[in-house]
Amino acid sequence: MPKLLELEDLRVSFHTYAGEAQALRGVNLTLDAGDTLAIVGESGCGKTVTAQSVMRLYPKGAADYKGGSIRYKGEDLLTLSERQMRRIRGREISMVFQDPMTSLNPTVPVGKQIMEGVLKNGSRESKRVTRRDARLRALELLEGVGIADPETRMGQYPHNLSGGMRQRVMIAIAMSCSPDLLIADEPTTALDVTVQAQILELMKSLQSRGNTSIIVITHNMGVVANIARKVAVMYGGVVVERGTVEDIFFRPRHPYAWGLLRSVFRLNKPKDEPLTPIDGTPPELIDPLPGCPFAERCAYTMRVCASGMPPEFAWGEARACRCWLYGPGCPVIPAEWEEYSHA
Ligand code: SF4
Repeated sequence: MPKLLELEDLRVSFHTYAGEAQALRGVNLTLDAGDTLAIVGESGCGKTVTAQSVMRLYPKGAADYKGGSIRYKGEDLLTLSERQMRRIRGREISMVFQDPMTSLNPTVPVGKQIMEGVLKNGSRESKRVTRRDARLRALELLEGVGIADPETRMGQYPHNLSGGMRQRVMIAIAMSCSPDLLIADEPTTALDVTVQAQILELMKSLQSRGNTSIIVITHNMGVVANIARKVAVMYGGVVVERGTVEDIFFRPRHPYAWGLLRSVFRLNKPKDEPLTPIDGTPPELIDPLPGCPFAERCAYTMRVCASGMPPEFAWGEARACRCWLYGPGCPVIPAEWEEYSHA
C-alpha cells in the first residue's frame, strides 16, 4: 500500500515558565492509504501532540518544531505556509475531537454548522458549492452518520442532541469534504459503552465506503482492538513499539506494552487473575533524564538503558521496538517472552 503519512524523528517542544517541555522526542510512524492506525498510551505520552502537530494546529510561537518531518503524500507539511496548510486542513485531513460540546458552536443549529464546513471546503470535484447543494450535502451527511429524521435535526442546537448524536454530528462535519485522512482524538471517551460501539462501527463503515485512512488516538485498549489494523504505542514522547494489532496484543515486545496489557481485562486470562497497574509515574518532559523514558518503571532496566535513548530495533518495515532488550548481545531474557510466545 502507498504511504499516506510518514513521521520521521519528529521533535516538538513547548516553552513553559518551568522550562522547555519536550513533548515529542523523535516520533517515527507511518500510515498506509486506506489503513487504520491507533496511537495508544497513557495521558501525557504525546498522542494528542502528535495529532495536532500533523494538523499544524499550534499557533505560531506556541510550539517549537525542533526537527524531523511530517510527510503527507510525500510532501513535508512542516515546510508549507499557513495558507497552504489551510487548504489541507478540513479539505484533505479532518479531525474529530474528544468533546463535541466544546467543539460545536452552541448558538448555531447543527445543520448550519455542517453546511458551513461544506461551503468553506467545497467539494473535492469542484470548488463551487451553492447553499442549496450544501444543504443537500448536510442532509446526506446526517443520514450517513445514522441520525434519523435529518430534516428536523438540521434545525436543532447541540444541546438538543444526546452525546452520541453530537459526536455523530462532529464526524459528519469531519467527513463533509471526504477527507483522505481522519484523525479522531479519543472520539468515544465521553460516551457510554453502547454508544462507543456505535461510533466505532460508524467510523469503520465510513472508512469502507470511501477510502479514508484513520488515526485513532486512545488510551482504551478495547477501542484499539475494535478499530485498528496497526498500532503505535507511545511513551514519554516517543513511539516505543509499533506493529499490527495482532503483534501488539499477542506478541508485544516492549516492557511498557507488557505493562499496558497486564493492566486491562483480557478474555484469555483466568477471571480470578488480578489486574496489575504499572507502578510509578510518567517521566518528566522538562529536562528529561537521558536514556530510555521507561527506565524508572521498568523491571528489566540495565546499565545501558540510562546511557541513551534506545534506537528502533526493526523486524521488517511495520514492526519496531525501542528497547535495549533487543540490542545485540543483550544478556536478559524476560519472562514475558515465554508468556507471549504461547499466547
Ligand atoms: Fe526497560 Fe531498558 Fe527496555 Fe527501557 S530500554 S524498556 S529501561 S529494558
